[in-house]
Amino acid sequence: MIIDIHTHLGNPDIVAQRYWDGWVEVGALRANRPLEKVRSKLPELWDISGDMIVKDMDAAGIDRSVLLAIDWGLARQPGEPKLSIEEINKIYADAAEKYPRRLIAFAGIDPRRNKAAELVGRFLKERGMKGIKLHSAAGFYPNDKVCYPIYEKALEYGVPVLLHTGELLKPMHFRYCRPIYVQEVAMDFPGLPIILAHTGGCWYSEAVAVCNTATNVYLDLSGWQPRLRHPPELYRALRTLLDSVSWQRVLFGSDYPFLKLLINQERWVRAFTEIPDSVRGQEIEFKDEEIEGIMGGNAARVLGLTE
Ligand SMILES: [Zn+2]
Repeated sequence: MIIDIHTHLGNPDIVAQRYWDGWVEVGALRANRPLEKVRSKLPELWDISGDMIVKDMDAAGIDRSVLLAIDWGLARQPGEPKLSIEEINKIYADAAEKYPRRLIAFAGIDPRRNKAAELVGRFLKERGMKGIKLHSAAGFYPNDKVCYPIYEKALEYGVPVLLHTGELLKPMHFRYCRPIYVQEVAMDFPGLPIILAHTGGCWYSEAVAVCNTATNVYLDLSGWQPRLRHPPELYRALRTLLDSVSWQRVLFGSDYPFLKLLINQERWVRAFTEIPDSVRGQEIEFKDEEIEGIMGGNAARVLGLTE
């Protein structure tokens, strides 16, 4: 089974336009393309029904994807989108309900919202959402006690928490997103599965250290797609990661749809399921059980999937 642990829905109703403006600006700079050309591509990322991701999953052979609702509404920038956080979470829950065997929704909440834990409890209980996404770039630290009622709620419902770690595009502030802040949380909630998105991004070593000093911390590979421009770099980095932490703690992810224009889902999946022979020639070996675990077995355990 192939499970993508890190995906999103997207459009300007659920993520404020200012974020998309930043995405276009930085994307144009990175890709060395005209601003307007990159902006014209934006609608290719927009879908809130779940139809587009399921179509792309079919093409890529992905069995299930975890949809992560994002709450950046209280961030200084980009601020509240058109829809309320209740409406945004509803959109995610509706998509998972529409495709019950393909999509799994995590509730997104800023813990500083009024009655945040109560609200997230409702999403888990009434809409069957299967986890919680915290995006601390909105302006809080994961080890701030304001987050603790959210972690308690996750424990109560037996669901994992996924936190963004690492850098983030303009206009978000990412100093809140260092894995080290999660270490204290992992110690305080040893029974809570915690996933560090992007394996810490620019704070990779911190993410590895936090994972290695707690038994309940997992790492996702979303955002690693640019390494595929130079495949040996991806495989060397993956081998190094698997030599640094248990393979049972590493989860396949894509951060769909943000990177689909760069590397589509099909190509990203194949990078793991069809590792070229030339890689072995460079003495980089992967065991079948490592790849199977990364691609879905580990996520199935974290999500408590029985089939
Ligand atoms: Zn993401």
